[in-house]
Amino acid sequence: SHYSQAKFRISAPDISHLGEDKGIEVAFAGRSNAGKSSALNTLTRQKSLARTSKTPGRTQLINVFELDENRRLIDLPGYGYAKVPMAVKEKWQKSLGEYLQKRESLKGIIVLMDIRHPFKDSDQDLIHWAVNAQIPVLALLTKADKLKSGNRKNQLLKVREAALAFCGDVTVDVFSSLTNIGLENLQIKLDSWFGY
Ligand code: GDP
Repeated sequence: SHYSQAKFRISAPDISHLGEDKGIEVAFAGRSNAGKSSALNTLTRQKSLARTSKTPGRTQLINVFELDENRRLIDLPGYGYAKVPMAVKEKWQKSLGEYLQKRESLKGIIVLMDIRHPFKDSDQDLIHWAVNAQIPVLALLTKADKLKSGNRKNQLLKVREAALAFCGDVTVDVFSSLTNIGLENLQIKLDSWFGY
């Protein structure tokens, strides 16, 4: 697939170092430990493209993975880790807000949440900012293998209802890096954003 072409390009300390605002990019975001690195590695079929987090909350960089010269996956730092100082959190929120509002090439954001613990406050904040900035959101319920099929379906329906109630137009789906549940749907959504 197109996504196995992904190549690490740069690590940026902040939004202003992301490079030229051209082409199309899709951002991946989520609380630390949500399964973001695993999802990126599964999507790109590369075992260690994105580093799975060993030290949650460590000051992280934004990683840019290039699919081709006009298409990029943006791996945003994990958030929601309790031990990060408030000043650091606030600075990050501000720059994330700016990114969502100003980045022309940003065509969509994937918000990854553990299927067992969706919509923590910081997830809700991020989704609200994205919706307000008119950036399409795919909420991906990760580690879906942790629930049995029946429970998984119920949880998906519940989360879809909650999403409708609090933020309107957000797509919600399940995902597992262990079983590849939802991988095809993720690719279909990405294909539409990237114009494949
Ligand atoms: P990140 O901090 O969001 O990048 O999360 P990681 O990808 O590093 O994953 C955090 C932890 O969850 C690791 O121990 C992973 O092995 C585990 N994990 C990630 N994805 C899955 C999944 O789909 N299923 C299961 N069972 N565990 C997962």
